[in-house]
Amino acid sequence: MFGEVEEISILSPSMIRIVLGGDGLDGFTVTDYTDQYVNAYFIPENASYSPPFELEEVRSLGDDQRPRPRRFTVRKWDSDTRRLTIDFVTHGDQGYAGAWAQKAQIGDRLQFKGPNGGYKPDMKADWHLLAGDESAISAISASVESIPETKTCLVFLVVDGPENRIKFTSSHLHQIKWVYRSAVLDPDLALLEAIKSQEFPAGEFDIFIHGEASEVRNIRKYFISEYEINIESASISPYWRRDHTDEAWRSIKKQWLADQEMDI
Ligand SMILES: Cc1cc2nc3c(=O)[nH]c(=O)nc-3n(C[C@H](O)[C@H](O)[C@H](O)COP(=O)(O)OP(=O)(O)OC[C@H]3O[C@@H](n4cnc5c(N)ncnc54)[C@H](O)[C@@H]3O)c2cc1C
Repeated sequence: MFGEVEEISILSPSMIRIVLGGDGLDGFTVTDYTDQYVNAYFIPENASYSPPFELEEVRSLGDDQRPRPRRFTVRKWDSDTRRLTIDFVTHGDQGYAGAWAQKAQIGDRLQFKGPNGGYKPDMKADWHLLAGDESAISAISASVESIPETKTCLVFLVVDGPENRIKFTSSHLHQIKWVYRSAVLDPDLALLEAIKSQEFPAGEFDIFIHGEASEVRNIRKYFISEYEINIESASISPYWRRDHTDEAWRSIKKQWLADQEMDI
């Protein structure tokens, strides 16, 4: 499946929204999950092929040619216009996906597989806690939009500074807290410290926390030690790792997750 870039908007100095459309999305089918994501294929600039391509064929090409898979959340699927919105974090010119979004032009194509997902808010919970960095804002936004307006919902979003906030649509009864890395001594602990300083409502809560690996792990550890939560049912996992390309991260992720179990 592939989409053609139909709209590009700058949401903040670190976030670009791309809307994909066209006949290549004819087979797109949404899931029930609010964190649903696609596995998109970004191709090196000098590659001798372009979307649509046979994945199996191009995967076996040399390192300078083969596509780089990256996961991106479905911010929105408009079933009337059959258009797909994805919000990309831009983080300099390193890597493939962020750099692709920064250079994207109307008509460019992006091939992908999916969507798949793993989380939707548990409506049986008394209240909901969602937290994450820029890469998780789409999943958190889509999740919050599915939670009834009157239900208690605490949301923590960490970004570099106030200029990196993006429009977050939610009921005024949901509490949205923006946390700034630039405002604290240790940016890696910014999200954890904000969560720790919050008084939680009574009752059972449902958890969704995603973002940078070390930051997410610190928060997971905190919940395991301080709250009697069922860690298996909480959706807490890393989306990316600082100073690691996605390939480097995936190559160590299994062991990293196994090591994380020792935190319990
Ligand atoms: C299920 C899932 C859903 C995701 N949804 C989204 C989404 O909707 N939007 C989104 O932007 N990302 C999302 N991500 C994260 C995204 O897949 C990774 O950030 C990915 O590494 C970006 O690829 P890249 O080619 O731009 O950089 P890479 O080639 O992977 O990395 C190059 C360098 O950039 C750094 N880097 C990578 N990501 C970031 C970042 N977010 N901030 C700062 N530095 C970074 C790396 O540590 C590395 O040093 C999701 C990840 C998962 C697993």
